[in-house]
Amino acid sequence: MDDTMSYKSRFERLKIRSQILKKEHWTERKKRIKAFGEFLLVNENRIGLAVQKDIGKPLVEVSISEVYPVITEIKHAVENLKTWIEPELIDAPFTYLGTRSKIIYEPKGVCLIIGAWNFPVNLCLGPLISCLAAGNTAILKPSELTPNTSRLLCDLIKEFFDEDLVTVVEGGVDVSTELLKLPFDHIFFTGSSGVGKIVMRAAAENLSSVTLELGGKSPTIIDDTANLADAARRIAFGKFLNNGQTCIAPDYVLIKESSKEKFIELLKNEVEKSFGDKSPIDVSSPNYSRIINEKHFDRLQQLILDATTRGAKTEWTGSINRGERFMHPVILSNVSMDSKIMEEEIFGPVLPIISYSSTDKIVEIVNAKAKPLALYVFSTSKKFQKRIMEETSAGSVCINDCVLQFTHPNLPFGGVNSSGIGKSHGKYGFLAFSNEKAVLKQRSGFSMPYLLHPPYTSRVKKLVDIMMRWF
Ligand code: NAD
Repeated sequence: MDDTMSYKSRFERLKIRSQILKKEHWTERKKRIKAFGEFLLVNENRIGLAVQKDIGKPLVEVSISEVYPVITEIKHAVENLKTWIEPELIDAPFTYLGTRSKIIYEPKGVCLIIGAWNFPVNLCLGPLISCLAAGNTAILKPSELTPNTSRLLCDLIKEFFDEDLVTVVEGGVDVSTELLKLPFDHIFFTGSSGVGKIVMRAAAENLSSVTLELGGKSPTIIDDTANLADAARRIAFGKFLNNGQTCIAPDYVLIKESSKEKFIELLKNEVEKSFGDKSPIDVSSPNYSRIINEKHFDRLQQLILDATTRGAKTEWTGSINRGERFMHPVILSNVSMDSKIMEEEIFGPVLPIISYSSTDKIVEIVNAKAKPLALYVFSTSKKFQKRIMEETSAGSVCINDCVLQFTHPNLPFGGVNSSGIGKSHGKYGFLAFSNEKAVLKQRSGFSMPYLLHPPYTSRVKKLVDIMMRWF
């Protein structure tokens, strides 16, 4: 009860500040975001150590996958804010002669950002940059599963921002549940599809708008024309980065039976070369991350057991260490479509390889599942690429590479239906946190619509007929 009151009072303070922000010149936002980028770089080491403590990520990987994407988001916003914020003048059609219209990008107000644990800095601060670029205030709720990072984010935000501009609330489900009762102007949630539904239900109570960045099973399709060695190198990185705990990681591979064996050999070599530093991967491999906690470790072991019990063949495995949350990469083949591993998002270093007999079969397998966050196609055939793109749906598609689409500053990022609602990053993130306010101004005493006012004489009727036919 006390906490709820304190959230409410924090919310009220953020609301007052958001009113002030509405009148602030956009250059102030730009200065603030730029300075925050410099502050983050100064604190890069603190960030690295906190994330490493929580999730065992190598420090360089923290820089690449946590700090760098936020810095890119900042640079992009600083360079483009002037263009994004500029009111957009809209052409008047003939029937609107005499009027002038424009779209104004108004800040939504007070926003809630709920983050996931797998990229605990990137997934909180990335959306925060879009939120601030659009002129809002925010409450940030990092994941409780990365407590050191959550504490550090709380400290960093306190050190840099006024508390009525951005504030961090730490905690788990209880805290999220209480926060979600408040009438936020926008909720930006990153997490699982199951919790996404809870968030959307709570948002409905206040009719808060939402961006839901969710997960799913991202298929990776390799056809006969693909360069197998190149595909193996790129899939090794995309799948085993962060120990497979990446929302857009390839979830399963679809490949022709005739190329399967060769691809598995190439993939094993690539994974070992990258993450074992050319030695077998074990608990001492410095470039290989850990599973977040024992619950997820056990979940992954269960998925493997269920698949092998149903006839899957283990193509590659190695040591495990539950206490260290270490799990060697696992490759499975002959996986039954009824296995749990082919039903739920894997989110770990396990890769099922499924053989397909025809392109029809690929489309059937992909479309039998919920629409994924990402879809990868490795092929040099334009016809094949086109067919897969036309006959399937996904939040994003990457051809002949994987995960790269996430960091492209000019591409929207997000899912479709159960993999997400709304888009983020760059201009699209700015738009998610903005109300695109339509403004129409009447300029003259006379306007075309005036001719349609009642009384509905035969002249009005004739005019309506003409309009229907010609305008
Ligand atoms: P999660 O849904 O369990 O938790 C996400 C956040 O929601 C956390 O901050 C948590 O405290 C909060 N939460 C959990 N249960 C809640 C409840 N009942 N009510 C209110 N809030 C609740 O997700 P996770 O395990 O942290 O992250 C993994 C999932 O996130 C995967 O499905 C992954 O694909 C997805 N993900 C998506 C993206 C993306 O950009 N689309 C990025 C990263 C992760």
